[in-house]
Amino acid sequence: MNIKVHRGLDQIGGCITEISTETSRVFIDFGLNLPGYGIATTPEEDQEMVESIFAQNKKENEAVFYTHGHEDHVGLFEYIPSNIPQYMGEGTKELLALKYHVTHEGAKLKVQELQNNVSDEQEYKDSLSKLEYIEYKISLLNRMNLWKRTLPRKKPAGILIGDIKITPFFNCHSIYDSYMFLIEAEGKRIWHTGDYRAHGYMGKGLFPTLKKYATNIDVLITEGTMLNHDEKCIHENTVSKKMAHIMKTFKYVFVLASATNIERLASIKEAAKNAGKSLYIWSLFLKKTMGIFTER
Ligand SMILES: [Zn+2]
Repeated sequence: MNIKVHRGLDQIGGCITEISTETSRVFIDFGLNLPGYGIATTPEEDQEMVESIFAQNKKENEAVFYTHGHEDHVGLFEYIPSNIPQYMGEGTKELLALKYHVTHEGAKLKVQELQNNVSDEQEYKDSLSKLEYIEYKISLLNRMNLWKRTLPRKKPAGILIGDIKITPFFNCHSIYDSYMFLIEAEGKRIWHTGDYRAHGYMGKGLFPTLKKYATNIDVLITEGTMLNHDEKCIHENTVSKKMAHIMKTFKYVFVLASATNIERLASIKEAAKNAGKSLYIWSLFLKKTMGIFTER
């Protein structure tokens, strides 16, 4: 079994890892470089890089797996050759689809506005092509292969790509529907953590999962975002209590938060409740993700 880390070793995000045998290969994540990490690239350069990766080391069976929906892990999915199957969690697809549909609504409004007032021909053309680009990305997303989140304490099913077996394990991270992977082939076992944390509400599942399933591991591939940090991570419970204190102290409190971070949104909601304050949601995307999280 061969492992090649194409990107992500000396930076945060932009991860691309290839694992191959004689006949098969899988990629874990195809992420965009985060601003300030790695070399800034144009979309054309990104596309060229992805194409050159797929042009080498070709195998009979190939697939791409995504650990979660952050752009630095999934952001290059549109450049994956159309004959290569791509896999992600059902919830990840749902969040990405929602993001594109909300962006699409905004882009459509812009086109309509410019249609009624064509003072700038170029701006109109640009907004039309933006609309088409979002539609293209939605169509690609609809071709994703999905796995369902397994219930807690149940063993998830593996997915076979030739002679490589990939098993996704639900995981706590600052976005909903994040996974670790056990990758088995040629008698070897790799544990790929993706991004993860233990200080969220769902973090209590981390060590039991590792103890039960991450056994006899030959190679560990882990994110190292916090390895050089001196400060301690505080638990979401504490974050919520601190926010409630601020909300009680001041009349109006404005909170900026990621719309896909289910646990932080829960903390904010709980803080507002404990402070006796009404919670107003300003963003349509955030309102809709909260709808999904409540349902799930
Ligand atoms: Zn992440």
